Amino acid sequence: MAAGAQADTAADVAAHSDVWVFVEQHDGEVAKVAWELLGKGRDLADQKDEDLVALVMGEGVRESGIPDEAIARGADRVLVADDPIFEPYRADPYGEQFRHLVEERKPDIAMIGGTHTGRDFAGRVAVPTHAGLTADTTELEITDERYEMRRPAFGGDALATIICPNHRPQMSTVRPGVFDTPDPDESREGEIEGVDVVVSEDDTRSEVLEREVGDVADITDAEVVVAGGMGLEGDFDPLWELADLLGGEVAATREAVEEGWIEPARQVGQTGKTVRPKLYIAVGISGAIQHVEGMDDSETVIAINNDPNAPIFENADYGIVEDYAEVMPELLELLREELG
Ligand code: FAD
Repeated sequence: MAAGAQADTAADVAAHSDVWVFVEQHDGEVAKVAWELLGKGRDLADQKDEDLVALVMGEGVRESGIPDEAIARGADRVLVADDPIFEPYRADPYGEQFRHLVEERKPDIAMIGGTHTGRDFAGRVAVPTHAGLTADTTELEITDERYEMRRPAFGGDALATIICPNHRPQMSTVRPGVFDTPDPDESREGEIEGVDVVVSEDDTRSEVLEREVGDVADITDAEVVVAGGMGLEGDFDPLWELADLLGGEVAATREAVEEGWIEPARQVGQTGKTVRPKLYIAVGISGAIQHVEGMDDSETVIAINNDPNAPIFENADYGIVEDYAEVMPELLELLREELG
């Protein structure tokens, strides 16, 4: 409970219904985590016998096809706040509009992707509404009618289960990549509703003067991930070339990140990112549980390690027991011939 906040009455809590998912988009491009959350939200809404509601904000989003796609991916209803004030993203109009809708419509559960955007504005909704907010959630489930939000705690040594019995909505930001993306079903039907926009430039304290999009890796979206560990002793060059040939991204273990061989945004694991690519190639990685947690939903895993007893082989579909320095040049040559 927020400091100083009283518990809502049981009647207040009971007045809340529906599972909400924030569908984050920038310039018409939807963050993949939003579709993942709709998949999870569909399960939760079915279990609770409530509606799944998608919330879309932006300029021109009403006609963008995004609301229809949200329905195809599981939403029963879509609330659309369409206004130039929502483009480009700023925390104050997003937070204020979301807060208003929460107070007006009273959702039971609200899920927001744990992206830069979601983490930026979620607190602006949770604090004034006295909702709980579980950040960086990796598991969500209903156990004995109780909604449980789980997230790593104590630097990843423990998994904390967080409940929010006395306030609504039960809010969380959710780590991208931890849930499946539902395939769209174009035959699904739902309602699209334009909502009143309650924010204005006069109440908005920030102004975007310039936007610079840096080269920020998003390993969670890649279909191929080539990951390296301490066994490489810093020699990531062959991994970059392999990823390039396969149209993938390079990732790493925490130890490799801590060595400074690669940037933290590319760390896979409990305290890094969760990836579920079609192909995960682990090179010189032992397969510690904290690493495996971030990649064990990959479709196919190939491990290259010179120790036949390395635990990574237990999580691999194909294993090559060999010095990476022997394997990589051959593999690259083969692929250059095939694909180059
Ligand atoms: P090592 O365990 O040192 O393994 C190196 C491997 O390379 C060995 O298996 C070795 O046989 C192999 N090798 C050596 N030479 C060669 C060669 N020439 N060719 C082929 N193979 C070779 N780790 C993460 O990755 N992500 C996390 O998010 C994460 N979070 C953590 C959170 C907590 C709270 C803690 C305590 C730890 C966390 N860790 C995390 C660290 C984790 O426990 C391991 O220490 C780490 O994953 C090991 O990294 P590694 O596999 O690169 O190194």
